[in-house]
Amino acid sequence: MKDMHVLTDCLDALKISYTDQQLEQLYRYYEMLVEKNKVMNLTAITDFDEVMIKHFADSLALLAYTPLREKKILDLGTGAGFPGVPLKIFCPDSEFILVDSINKKLNFIADVCEELGLNGISVCHSRAEDLAHSPEFREQFDFVVSRAVANLATLSELTLGFIKKGGYFVSYKSVAAEEELEQAKNAIKIMGGKVQKVEGLVLPGSDLDRALIFIKKGVNTPKQYPRKAGMPSKNPL
Ligand code: SAH
Repeated sequence: MKDMHVLTDCLDALKISYTDQQLEQLYRYYEMLVEKNKVMNLTAITDFDEVMIKHFADSLALLAYTPLREKKILDLGTGAGFPGVPLKIFCPDSEFILVDSINKKLNFIADVCEELGLNGISVCHSRAEDLAHSPEFREQFDFVVSRAVANLATLSELTLGFIKKGGYFVSYKSVAAEEELEQAKNAIKIMGGKVQKVEGLVLPGSDLDRALIFIKKGVNTPKQYPRKAGMPSKNPL
């Protein structure tokens, strides 16, 4: 196993604790990601230290603000498993469902979960616009997380229907959080959410600016939302 100090230094600075087993699981995930990336398009980032920071530390940064113990969590547009898989490795007693509209990425994640021996994590092949109307998913989750999927207005429509009253949507953003927040005001309100806080951080050991936007679900989402597939991105609320 390669030296993972780039990651552990970052986690130490964020006061996120870890075990050898968790590091070994991340390492194996890295190996599988890079291997599979040769035959399908999973990530543009393959350099070891970059994966450690831009995929792993970035995904885990949320744990510096909330421990996510015994929660039910949905990762919308998980792609190759970010942030859902690293969060699951670090939050074994929470239940995760990773959603994406591209099935072959989900097959990769299912292989990773099996290889790593992860339980309480499953994948779901669907578009958020459809899934958020299904009774087993509607208003069922404590948290929805999402990284690099859409602008905040679109994301608010895609995610807030999944969340229980009192739960949170956490949007992982890099830049322009303020501008996106302004443009998303209407969508957040219609969907029954309220911006609770924005945590800005620079990923320790890098110059990468990040923002985690916490939106709290206050009231139930009106039944007609999200609108049909494609509408939330084509014509944000
Ligand atoms: N979260 C990952 C992947 C980002 S790429 C990361 O940060 O690396 C965006 C992913 O969102 C793609 O895999 C795409 O298939 C998925 N996606 C986009 N719109 C979606 C929708 N409406 N429903 C479900 N998945 C969606």
